[in-house]
Amino acid sequence: MLLEPAIRFSPDLTVEALNARYEGAPPEDILHAGLRFYAGGIALVSSFGAESAVLLHMAAQINPHVPVLMIDTLMLFPQTLEYQQQLSGELGLTDVRRIGLSREEAREKDPYGALHLSNPDGCCHLRKVAPLERALSLFSAHISGRKRFQNGVRANMEVFEADAAGRIKINPLAGWGPQDIAAYMDRHDLPRHPLVDKGYPSIGCVPCTSRVGEGEDPRAGRWRGSDKTECGIHFGARSRAERIEA
Ligand code: SF4
Repeated sequence: MLLEPAIRFSPDLTVEALNARYEGAPPEDILHAGLRFYAGGIALVSSFGAESAVLLHMAAQINPHVPVLMIDTLMLFPQTLEYQQQLSGELGLTDVRRIGLSREEAREKDPYGALHLSNPDGCCHLRKVAPLERALSLFSAHISGRKRFQNGVRANMEVFEADAAGRIKINPLAGWGPQDIAAYMDRHDLPRHPLVDKGYPSIGCVPCTSRVGEGEDPRAGRWRGSDKTECGIHFGARSRAERIEA
């Protein structure tokens, strides 16, 4: 049983005040507060990847009609697209929106589908960052499933953040570790992404995702062999270079 948010939202409520209240709170409470505070103007952004079922399940318990944005880069594994259909149906999510560039734009700007080889940041911008920015222009807040344990860039993220456009970004799972995720999946018997059992603990686009060996970091298969660790949709006001230096 979720409690009503302990503080009432007002437009003056700052990110600092929200973090002071909700740092260390259960993810369900953070999510509930965010969905209440920004009702009608909030979306959940999900990759429908290896751990996405957790946050989607929590959201579905509170409001199955919340808009869920999935970025279809046109480079995703077919298993991810099938998993999106399966999971959305099982959780009863009613407003899942596949967003992304059109096939015409892809043909015009990346005619050979090879931009990821020469300019992965440019490819991520074309296929992920720009479409998400367009979609989020309709919202004042959004929810992500990032966790602090995932990599160095994410280690210091707050539960509530302001993104580069001034929207509120909420990270309900910020403080959870792999054991918390696994336990929640088991407790609720959530369906797994079919590629997890095949050695993919973190799943993105086909050309930029590889199998992970035993003992490797779960995200080691993303952009393997390069210093790239993020697609750019999670950068705030600072650039990738500034983030990496930090
Ligand atoms: Fe392009 Fe790879 Fe980024 Fe996908 S993950 S948008 S293929 S660079």
